[in-house]
Amino acid sequence: MSNYHIETKCIQEGYQPKNGEPRVLPVYQSTTFKYDSSEHVGRLFDLAEEGFFYTRLANPTVDAVERKIAALEGGVGAMCTSSGQAASLIAILNICSSGDHLVSAGTIYGGTTNLFAVTLKRMGIEVTFVDPDAPAEELQEAIRENTKLVFAETIANPALVVLDIEKFANLAHSSHIPLFIDNTFATPINCRPFEFGADIVIHSTSKYMDGHAVALGGVIVDSGNFNWDNGKFPGLSTPDASYHGMVYTRDCGKAAFITKARVQLMRDLGSTPTPNNAFLLNLGLETLHLRMERHCANAQKVAEYLEKNEKIAWVNYPGLKGSKYYDLAQKYLPKGSCGVISYGIKGGRDAAVKFMDSLKLAAIVVHVADNRTGVLHPASTTHRQLSDQQLVAAGITPDLIRMSIGIENVEDIIADIEQALGWL
Ligand SMILES: *Cc1c(COP(=O)(O)O)cnc(C)c1O
Repeated sequence: MSNYHIETKCIQEGYQPKNGEPRVLPVYQSTTFKYDSSEHVGRLFDLAEEGFFYTRLANPTVDAVERKIAALEGGVGAMCTSSGQAASLIAILNICSSGDHLVSAGTIYGGTTNLFAVTLKRMGIEVTFVDPDAPAEELQEAIRENTKLVFAETIANPALVVLDIEKFANLAHSSHIPLFIDNTFATPINCRPFEFGADIVIHSTSKYMDGHAVALGGVIVDSGNFNWDNGKFPGLSTPDASYHGMVYTRDCGKAAFITKARVQLMRDLGSTPTPNNAFLLNLGLETLHLRMERHCANAQKVAEYLEKNEKIAWVNYPGLKGSKYYDLAQKYLPKGSCGVISYGIKGGRDAAVKFMDSLKLAAIVVHVADNRTGVLHPASTTHRQLSDQQLVAAGITPDLIRMSIGIENVEDIIADIEQALGWL
């Protein structure tokens, strides 16, 4: 299917039925698979033959979705996980152990920040957070002898910083380490990080990929491009005693990283997606290209409306000509960035709360990046324990409103904002 456009791949990749089989991907709601001989099962365990034996490691419904996502990103393989958090954790543990270090953009999703600063730290893995806008020479100073990877988001949630992916790829590759990109907000429709030098891509599929806010999930995608056999990654280039002495770089070729993640870490950690959630994710992926187009078109119009409104103090959206990230967005996200915008209401915290409570169509939700327009005021919800001063230190102004623009008619979304602003 490699010659088809990405829109066609959204629909047709992954599941390809044979003569007389169901046209639509079935839910293989089975933990287990039957074989006629022990010898056959033995060959599956040796990875000498492809097949399914236990849903913790692989399941036909999940497998079809993994093939589709690998095709969308242009990778050699993918592995779905039970959540985006599990995808980040497994991707990192695949090459990092106690005593290792990684460098991450500071402007990343709050859940990932906690994973890095709290739980990885407890595991003996240290993280240095850097300013993604810093010049290359300054970023280079964060790299150490034991640094195993560089991590960043294509479009940061919620700061909406657009990453200079090539700058980060050069930073990683000059030290012979890989670049991991969380591509959740852009999706492969708007950016394919492998084309700019990223080596591993991860997603929270709970966001745009699912799109309907029905199934939590994550995925790791392997570009197959990184040379793991350079002495820095013995877990991949020396025998795995827990897997009959397999040497992933020797025995799995380009799919070394993703094979190890599955047969070693998914085996041991078990953060497996359910077949039913994989089925729902597949339905979401079938319309990803249409939905992203509408999310971006709507967000652009809402951002332009807000920019002209005198009750609005500031608007942050990479598609606005005045945005600090406009040029980077033109380069990396020419089709559009995402549906999330942030803005400030004149009158600070109190005005923001009054505005939010007056919205009728846009619902107050913690989730982002699904079909329905949603809105969140961090200062009065997720970050309510912080004083105004502490909020600013955390990069969140008291007036900041994060709005995830859905795929409703944009005139209705703007009318809702307008009537809510009328109460101020
Ligand atoms: C939501 C999110 C995650 C975490 O994903 P879950 O599916 O909620 O575990 C990771 N990265 C980004 C950018 C996110 O928005």
